Amino acid sequence: MSAYSRGDVHLFEGGNANYAYLAASGGIVALDRISSGILARLEKTALDHSDLISKMVEEGFRAAEVSEGIDELTQMSAIRNGTPLRTMSEALPEEFPLQTLVLNVTNQCNLSCHYCYEFGEDKVATPEGKKKFMDWETAKASIDYFFHDSRGRKSVHITFFGGETLMNFPLLKQAVTYAQAEAERRRVKLDFSLTTNATLLTPKIIDFLAENAIGVTVSIDGAKESQDTFRVFKNGRGTYDVIEPKIKELLAKHTTRPIAARVTMTSHAMDVLGTYKHLKHTLGFHEVGFAPVTTSPNRLYSITPVGMDSVLGQFQTLAEEYLECAKRGEHHGFSNVSDTLAELHQGVNKSLPCGAGLGLVGVGPSGDIAPCHRFVDSDQHKIGNVSTGIDKEKQAAFLKRGNIDAKYDCHTCWARPLCAGGCHHEAFVRYGDTGHANLHYCDWIRAWTDTCLRIYGTIASLNPAFLDHFSERKAS
Ligand code: SF4
Ligand code: SF4
Repeated sequence: MSAYSRGDVHLFEGGNANYAYLAASGGIVALDRISSGILARLEKTALDHSDLISKMVEEGFRAAEVSEGIDELTQMSAIRNGTPLRTMSEALPEEFPLQTLVLNVTNQCNLSCHYCYEFGEDKVATPEGKKKFMDWETAKASIDYFFHDSRGRKSVHITFFGGETLMNFPLLKQAVTYAQAEAERRRVKLDFSLTTNATLLTPKIIDFLAENAIGVTVSIDGAKESQDTFRVFKNGRGTYDVIEPKIKELLAKHTTRPIAARVTMTSHAMDVLGTYKHLKHTLGFHEVGFAPVTTSPNRLYSITPVGMDSVLGQFQTLAEEYLECAKRGEHHGFSNVSDTLAELHQGVNKSLPCGAGLGLVGVGPSGDIAPCHRFVDSDQHKIGNVSTGIDKEKQAAFLKRGNIDAKYDCHTCWARPLCAGGCHHEAFVRYGDTGHANLHYCDWIRAWTDTCLRIYGTIASLNPAFLDHFSERKAS
């Protein structure tokens, strides 16, 4: 019989309990003394069955309970007995109905943010000669196509995007009314969201968003100084003074859905703690999420590895604050933690990094279908058109490239159930290949995942009821 060794597990502590994160399944298990002891024994040396039992008996355990522990750990792939470290991911079902439609109602924007992935130096879109604003015919065709290709789903989601989404508000309004009627006719639950830079919000628009319970994410970089560094009008003027009163009005009047802020971090804006404080406590957003700018590494605004270390340290400080709130059963608005906890709680085990091109598609003003909003208007990444549907060959090729099975560097990484190689769009910007693993941030991702696991384990030990609301939450 071959020797036992550690499987693909990441061990962590939380609230005085020991846990294992199982990379083969994305599951989390609490370890008793025997399981912890076996895993500790196998950390450096492989041992055959009888040696393993003898060593554990020397530590005071009974042979029968050790043998049982070995069986349990083997079953969950926490230890292995000659079996290969990684098995291939499960094949995706042939029919996978859509769940989310991202409707890019315009590719125009009234701002000129220097780092924008749509207009900046790293843009992948090729909008030349295409429609700038989606017309009603295309919006209707997109919604009809979406309901057709999402059949079988009981609940679906439409999100509006741009350019600046609100530059085509009349179309958005018409699309909401039409989609609501269609959803009712088809007896499907439908909800909406949108992303905006907030510059074009008006009292009437806010009323409409509130009346229709449309979830709103505001792209904002923080307090005045950060916001005005990059998020500027075309004449270079900063936007903070324009958006501040509009956001305050939005937050005061739109109470049917929580309002979120999304911050793009750059080398010039890495004050996570100060930004969080401003957006959550001064302006009053319900949630605040941070993402580093997606860029080639040589851009002035890209964050260096040292900068990312500082971001990680600040994320960890905020995560601790989050934990203190969770212990008391209180809400904390740092959505990077909530999103990861939701995935951990749901036992997510991804073969693809996200739903792009599978359950989610982006549609641009021309009606072309892209894997997600970030690839809209890119001829190279087009996978169909709403008039003809998805080109199954192109879709399959995109999904095959992005599947973790094709990312050899990820096969032995314990963080793969959540990361799966990372964003296809970022991979394309960095490496020119949507299927390339985002290897520039592995250490960062593993450190952050470890932090979230410890937070999860501590909450599971000290206030498990808090985790209940993650059963439903969808990571954004
Ligand atoms: S990209 Fe890096 S962190 Fe992500 S799964 Fe692959 S090896 Fe792990
Ligand atoms: S993670 Fe990247 S590829 Fe996936 S939906 Fe988001 S932007 Fe698109």
